[in-house]
Amino acid sequence: MSLDGTYDDGNIFARILRGEIPAARVFEDEHVLAFMDPFPQASGHTLVIPKHSTARNLLDEDPAVLANLILGVQRVARAVRAALNPDGLVITQFNGACAGQTVFHLHAHIIPRWDGVALGRHTGGGMGDPAELKALAEQISAKIS
Ligand code: AMP
Repeated sequence: MSLDGTYDDGNIFARILRGEIPAARVFEDEHVLAFMDPFPQASGHTLVIPKHSTARNLLDEDPAVLANLILGVQRVARAVRAALNPDGLVITQFNGACAGQTVFHLHAHIIPRWDGVALGRHTGGGMGDPAELKALAEQISAKIS
């Protein structure tokens, strides 16, 4: 998938937004939905997506939607910090398959980091334990302010 192309509303995140497939949901408001990445690069790896968007990547996005997305990312990142007390947080966002993007609905990754703990591989790691993901979602959700 190049940077150009047509939005496919059968993508995983569009299906999560429509409630067709499950996700360990953390937070939602009128603009964004946050849920646990089922293949976490670190404990607490959370994804934030715009709810009303057909942008495949950041370059495609309407600036007003983008503004609300980054505000949602900040809000969720603060909750991740409050819940899990990481030493740092990586916020990533990939554009195009060649850059590492695998789901073509704009999204941001929030990945907590701890000193001395290696970062897992992007999309190449194992699946998280569903019960653990649910517990993490609840912990983070409780810290949303
Ligand atoms: P990216 O590679 O930046 O497009 O990120 C897509 C993310 O979606 C990856 O980190 C995957 O682990 C994650 N992912 C894969 N399958 C699912 C799923 N069924 N529900 C939620 N996230 C998923």
